[in-house]
Amino acid sequence: MLNNRKKTRRMKRRMRRFLLVGLPVILIGSMGYFSLKRLSSASESAASGHFYNNSSYKDNDSEYDKDDDSSVKGDTPVSNPTKEAEITGNDNVELDTTPDSLTVLVNKELRLPSDYVPADLMVPDVNFSISYYDEKKLMRKPAAEALKELFEAAERDNLSLCGVSAYRSYKRQYEIFTNNVKTQGMGHTLQYSAVPGYSEHQTGLAIDISTKSVNYHIDESFASTDEYQWLIENAHLYGFIIRYPEDKTSITGYSFEPWHIRYVGKALAKYLYENNMCLEEYYKFTPSEDYSESINYDNLEEYGINPDDVKVPTKAPVKTPTPTPTETPTPSEEPSATPTPSVKPTKKPDKVTPTVTATPTQEVTETPEITPTEEVTPSPTDATNAPADGDAGGADTQTP
Ligand SMILES: [Zn+2]
Repeated sequence: MLNNRKKTRRMKRRMRRFLLVGLPVILIGSMGYFSLKRLSSASESAASGHFYNNSSYKDNDSEYDKDDDSSVKGDTPVSNPTKEAEITGNDNVELDTTPDSLTVLVNKELRLPSDYVPADLMVPDVNFSISYYDEKKLMRKPAAEALKELFEAAERDNLSLCGVSAYRSYKRQYEIFTNNVKTQGMGHTLQYSAVPGYSEHQTGLAIDISTKSVNYHIDESFASTDEYQWLIENAHLYGFIIRYPEDKTSITGYSFEPWHIRYVGKALAKYLYENNMCLEEYYKFTPSEDYSESINYDNLEEYGINPDDVKVPTKAPVKTPTPTPTETPTPSEEPSATPTPSVKPTKKPDKVTPTVTATPTQEVTETPEITPTEEVTPSPTDATNAPADGDAGGADTQTP
């Protein structure tokens, strides 16, 4: 009896100790584990959400997923799904303005939403002119895979292509554009730089490429290379087109850009190649006469640009980019032959003033066109130095 009572008391004591100490330890332990788990998965999704997440365009993405699957299962090792039916004509073609479509038309009149970010961006496995990571290395998956094949095919023919500038976000284009308007004026900017939202680089399907023999420059020198001659004949086999050909400038609205290629898929690329058409012609898109002149200082807001972002600081004149030797006060402004309205009047006269030093004048002559070359220099941040994506080109400033 006594023994029994002792036992029960001991049992009770143990139970109490367990409830007081053991249980809380278990509870706290498991809470810690789960919250850690949740934290780590949250940070993963935050990281991948940076570029790759854009829920509003989800639906279209899933189409690609299907395509990708088929390419994996199929016996052709080609990464690019060749599901596309052959294109035999363009009589009943509807204008394609779906941001996520591989055949979307983006030009000086057809814009992408400012919040459009492709969901499947990745860095193509090809050589680039820069070695560090940069947003401009990104392309959409189908384009990135096709680019790899294109570059490998060129290499088999002893040619070497090099990526320079691919994806450009709306935000980046906005910075480039407003910065150019501020420093070069509207006229010059419109000639060389795409208005944010109107750059084909925002699709993730376009890339500016070059080659070593022209120092990876994004300019017309690329047109004289063997690589470019090869591209003319072969790009379509991998789904790419030369987007702004020399003989289509009045239709595309952009000057000749041998370096800017655009992925449209093999079927369309082949059709355009065989019929010597540019994308605008395929869609029977007729540009309005005014094209790029349609935007000006007064209607900036209609283009989603905050006028404050392009306001030239009143002191602008002083700000000469080039270290002008001491004097020659005014000449410095010259470089912007363009639109900075206020400065203009004074300018010309100054030029005349005979400055003894030879240098100043030279600086003056060196106008904007030079910028393109600079592009190669890897300054990740610098918006100004790219030629443009205006690229139209190229790089950053210009366009498409
Ligand atoms: Zn370009």
